[in-house]
Amino acid sequence: MDFQLLFSPIRIETMEVGNRFVVPPMGTNLANPDGTVSEELIAYWEARAKGGWGLLIVEITAVDPIGKAIPHQLGLWDDKFIPGYKKLVDTVHRYGAKIAVQIHHAGRQTSSDILGGEKPVAPSPVPCFVTQETPRELTTEEVYQLLEKFGDAAARAREAGFDAVEIHGAHGYIVAQFMSQHTNKRVDEFGGSLYNRMRFPVEVIKDVRRKVGGSFPIIFRMSADERVVDGRKIEESKAVASIVEEAGVDALHISTGVYASMQYIVPPPDVSPGFILPDAGEIKKAVSIPVIGVGRINDPVLAKQAIQTGQADLLAWGRQSLADPELPNKVAAGRIREIQPCIACNQGCIGYIFDPNKMKCSCLVNPFCGREYKMKIEPAAQSRKVVIVGGGPGGLEAAWIAAARGHKVVLFEKEQSPGGQLRVGAIAPAKQDLTKAINYYTYMGEKYGVDFRFGTQAGAEQVLAEKPDVVILATGGEPSIPDIPGIDSPQVATANDVLLGKVDVGKKVLIIGGGLVGSETADFLGEHGHEVTLVEALPEIAEDVQESIKHFLLLRLKRHEVRIETNTRVKEILQNGVKVEKDGQESQLTGYDNIIIAVGAKPVNNLKPQLEGKVPELHVIGDASEPRKAIDAIEEGASVAIKI
Ligand code: SF4
Repeated sequence: MDFQLLFSPIRIETMEVGNRFVVPPMGTNLANPDGTVSEELIAYWEARAKGGWGLLIVEITAVDPIGKAIPHQLGLWDDKFIPGYKKLVDTVHRYGAKIAVQIHHAGRQTSSDILGGEKPVAPSPVPCFVTQETPRELTTEEVYQLLEKFGDAAARAREAGFDAVEIHGAHGYIVAQFMSQHTNKRVDEFGGSLYNRMRFPVEVIKDVRRKVGGSFPIIFRMSADERVVDGRKIEESKAVASIVEEAGVDALHISTGVYASMQYIVPPPDVSPGFILPDAGEIKKAVSIPVIGVGRINDPVLAKQAIQTGQADLLAWGRQSLADPELPNKVAAGRIREIQPCIACNQGCIGYIFDPNKMKCSCLVNPFCGREYKMKIEPAAQSRKVVIVGGGPGGLEAAWIAAARGHKVVLFEKEQSPGGQLRVGAIAPAKQDLTKAINYYTYMGEKYGVDFRFGTQAGAEQVLAEKPDVVILATGGEPSIPDIPGIDSPQVATANDVLLGKVDVGKKVLIIGGGLVGSETADFLGEHGHEVTLVEALPEIAEDVQESIKHFLLLRLKRHEVRIETNTRVKEILQNGVKVEKDGQESQLTGYDNIIIAVGAKPVNNLKPQLEGKVPELHVIGDASEPRKAIDAIEEGASVAIKI
């Protein structure tokens, strides 16, 4: 397929962008704690500039410290920030890419924790959906002072050498808060009618224009549909687009949602790729400036189609650019099967940013993301024989990287197909994207000459027969089986066996365990017509599931009328049900054809004691060491493979 259209240059005012590939602004938390540019951030952007992206838009950058939305947010409220940006811009320019910065103020969508104890400010005292804090309403005078800060920040951006600025008017931050009936309840000249609600963004644009000069490109990002009650919908968004065009912006960047509809800002796989493009297309018809489309853009075929059909002029690939910083170069070279697919899991990107133990953005399929400054794939000093046991995500990642570095790699996998737990996970509804990741890893292994031996349960003897210099045990985990009376009954099966189609289950099933695996198995069976009861000992089901993913999963469980029993412990398996205890009371749940076990996993690691002391170097990674998530296994696979 010809993707030339994606490589045609395009102008945004004076800025000529070499192709249609955009990395949109996404919070990485990679800045220094004082908001200056870090070496980590430069390495992150350098990888994407090198990878062929035409336009890079640096993440949310605060125009005022009280507008920060994440702890390590970049700043532009002072001249002290300029030298760091100069270094970043110079680095990116070396590769021919253009670079813009997104100027931002969170308004109500932040917390006093992030603001060092200060109360957030906003157009009106409407609490933030996520933090539940009520902001202080800005006075009219303060509003005029605040809008000047956008122009000041833009002038600094220009001074630092950026090619453009983007005003963040999307996702429910302060500019959007003024624009939307949902959050603007003011009765001064900034509230009420659409005309008045647009006064703040229009004055911001004019202030920026005054301070950056006539031809410096200004991009405006907005949500076409806020997806909340009384939030803006597409018809009003078309009017907003015309107004900001008239006020002086040179391009529009069309996104969706606010914090209260976060599941559409970082959508899980339940939401179709390109789902915002129809709105972008509508807005494109209302303006005469270029439009950037965004929203699960993860495939060059989809991107080409969007441009061909006039839905957008450029495409921002969001999380896909985290998963594969080299995507444009791969598309240009026709290396489509080498694209590392974003599987919309939200674990490494947004999941890590909001995890106090991680804080910094990374990616499940690309553990190098956010760690470019310290993790690199370099040729090995000496080629070694590496034997990997286990073809799950950790083993597959270790295999291709070790082989790419010049090692001779043999991988044993007991099943006929690769993927391990990822392959099982892919079977539940809306999880098919996981197969793309397995396909990618296997292809990369083949490309670099990994000797895959599927359908081979390797014992210690077989491993030693290979005379390995390094052994990596990635043997994964197996379902934990609770020690309760009746567990050996024939009507009992594991969730894995059900998902893999190894057992048939009857119409009515009861699942013990309402974590990720149990909930997804309930979803799978409900989708295919079974009547399901989910029993969980904790107060909530799906506690280990990322919020956006959980949102859609719970909706589907409701649609399938899954009966959910929380705070409930199974004491015994009966012939047609279970005996349970809830609030100190025992009772029975009966009338079931099958009982399915989904209570976690335990490591499979019997080779370690047999190989210790018999091979020069031995590593145990992923669930074989301790059952966790695929992201941990892949990170460990990569970390070992770049060092051996
Ligand atoms: Fe995509 Fe998951 Fe990577 Fe986030 S962590 S970029 S959702 S693959």
